[in-house]
Amino acid sequence: MGLLERSDAYWKFAGQCTQCGKCTKACDSLIAADMTLGEIAKALLAAQRGATTRDEVRRNIEDNPQLVQAVRGCFFCTTCKNTCFAHNDVCDLIYNARVDFQDLGLIPRETWSSVLVDEEWDIFTAYRAIHGIGYADLTLHVENDYHDAETGFDAVFFPGCSLAAYGPELTREIFGVFEEFGVRATMLDSCCGSSLRSAGFFERAEALCDRNVQEIIQSGAKQLVCVCPGCANDMGRALERAGITIEVVSLVEFLASHGFESRRPLPEGPVCISKSCQDRDGTYLEQTCDLLGIDAQSASIFHGCCGAGGAVNAFQPERQAQQADSKLSFAPDGSTVVTMCPTCTYTYAYRLMNNPRAIANKHYAELLFESQLDWDLVFYQLGSMWSGEYGPWLAEVFA
Ligand code: SF4
Ligand code: SF4
Repeated sequence: MGLLERSDAYWKFAGQCTQCGKCTKACDSLIAADMTLGEIAKALLAAQRGATTRDEVRRNIEDNPQLVQAVRGCFFCTTCKNTCFAHNDVCDLIYNARVDFQDLGLIPRETWSSVLVDEEWDIFTAYRAIHGIGYADLTLHVENDYHDAETGFDAVFFPGCSLAAYGPELTREIFGVFEEFGVRATMLDSCCGSSLRSAGFFERAEALCDRNVQEIIQSGAKQLVCVCPGCANDMGRALERAGITIEVVSLVEFLASHGFESRRPLPEGPVCISKSCQDRDGTYLEQTCDLLGIDAQSASIFHGCCGAGGAVNAFQPERQAQQADSKLSFAPDGSTVVTMCPTCTYTYAYRLMNNPRAIANKHYAELLFESQLDWDLVFYQLGSMWSGEYGPWLAEVFA
């Protein structure tokens, strides 16, 4: 290991890359940086070559704006990986680079201080506390004021941080179907740690998932039901790390296996599916189309990142907006865009608030259940947190 903690990963990546340049053409951030993925690895190694201190390495990286662009401008969308004949793992490269950037102080604190989702307070837990959103009555495997800790559950429901915070009625309605199906379930209202990974806290993200795994083990459940494909991926990896055999299924797969029928008709007009970049092989999308009764072969499906991935917003806010616009541009007026991941739904809602269009933006669960996400209320409540009586406290906590 050199002065960069993750230099082994860069050596490995540089050795696997032929510098064919296909990845660069697939990505506006790599085009702006004028780098291939292999050149990112080489530039990181060059930054430590000849340096005798970590300060020198940091300065060498700071003096290379192309490298900073390539590392901090990545959405983790894997579009480039799909063009690489060797399928070189962009996520492994950039996650490692973010860890070194974080260690070297190259990612400003104000860009991640509110998304430390392994601490008591982050933007989601603060939102929930300020607006009275709690699930203590549903987290049945944890002892609290409502009940003792129970075990022997059939399933753990994992809504993810965005849905649990911004869609409490929808979250509760979904949880209600477990009982209707005779499935004894508890809820784990934690986070998969994706924002920690983006900020360069890879090990903390893994530790958070490992903590979640311990709760799942304590619950005695044999099945983990995830709303978001990203949560399913991260929790699946954590269960594998722990050597635990617990089935991870998508909410749609769970619903379909119990004969669930949608509680509302499909919206009128074209339905356009926004594929989550975490749904690498499209399984989640296929299952969702099946449950909604949409022909996946003829539906309009948009690939690529919604703009929320990789915390690019904290580095180049305008690129998140451009990315969301570019993905939404495929949706004709009068259509409904259906997302897989609640954070994609949030990202589009935020973009449509600032740049209104005659399209509806729905998470797939909103097409299946009665309860709907109220983004006007969410954005009002998010804004009022900072200007209201809790503003000074938030400013202090997230300083
Ligand atoms: S993962 Fe996406 S954003 Fe990152 S380098 Fe590849 S194409 Fe660009
Ligand atoms: S497409 Fe693959 S082999 Fe070609 S430059 Fe990019 S990472 Fe290297």
